[in-house]
Amino acid sequence: MKSDNNNLYQLIANLEWQLNMGVEAIVEEKTNNFSEIKIDKSDNLKFDAFQQPSASLLEDEEVNQDESILKSVNDCLSLEELKNFMLDFNGCDLKKTATQLVFSDGNPKSNIMIIGEAPGAEEDRQGKPFCGASGQLLDKMLASINLDRNNVYITNAIPWRPPGNRTPKEIEINLMKPFLLRHIELVKPKILVTVGGSATKAILDIEGGILRHRGVWKEIRLSNSLVIPIIATLHPAYLLRAPNQKKLAWEDLKSIRSKIQELNE
Ligand code: URA
Repeated sequence: MKSDNNNLYQLIANLEWQLNMGVEAIVEEKTNNFSEIKIDKSDNLKFDAFQQPSASLLEDEEVNQDESILKSVNDCLSLEELKNFMLDFNGCDLKKTATQLVFSDGNPKSNIMIIGEAPGAEEDRQGKPFCGASGQLLDKMLASINLDRNNVYITNAIPWRPPGNRTPKEIEINLMKPFLLRHIELVKPKILVTVGGSATKAILDIEGGILRHRGVWKEIRLSNSLVIPIIATLHPAYLLRAPNQKKLAWEDLKSIRSKIQELNE
């Protein structure tokens, strides 16, 4: 009994220490899924262990996209239909630990579509992409070429926050890819900009890191035979960690500005 109490005191002391260190969530990674214990600071130590995910599309290391899901994604005829379909979609375990779906921000009629990686903590709270520290830098980057959220449309490769802000797994990116491609088809932008390696790999079949692929215009052909110029640039979160790389991002931004001018001629 005494040793049970000691263990309990030790557990509580560990959790208190983690809270003081700013830990928001403890993620227990299993083979292909995870459960998360949420720490609610207002209620001190409150545990909300998630149930084991039910049969999941992530069961194997291969994505077995259900044909009917693909068909349903492509049946979405408007952004609202796509958003509602994603709200109902339970095939991605990331939904279980996220607070909400983060669908998009900005102007859906814009010619410029920006694709990020996945929501962070602030985006998960507000339900809006790029509204935290990375978003503030993204806004500054856009402003440097006279763009803002009234004339760009922003989404992410993954619409739910990965626990602890980890990088989305390839399998998760592949799982959500049909949703992303349909999203692009519905917006029909004239220019696509991916920020960071995950978003770029979600769309382009590339090997190697973002530094190798950024700043180069390519094209993607969508299933409705729409061909869209696409450029990758550095992720603002990376630029916050490596500010000396901002000069590379500035080269990309100038290239985007020229492309916009070209399209307006
Ligand atoms: N990073 C991203 O890639 N997307 C967001 O929405 C926020 C941070």
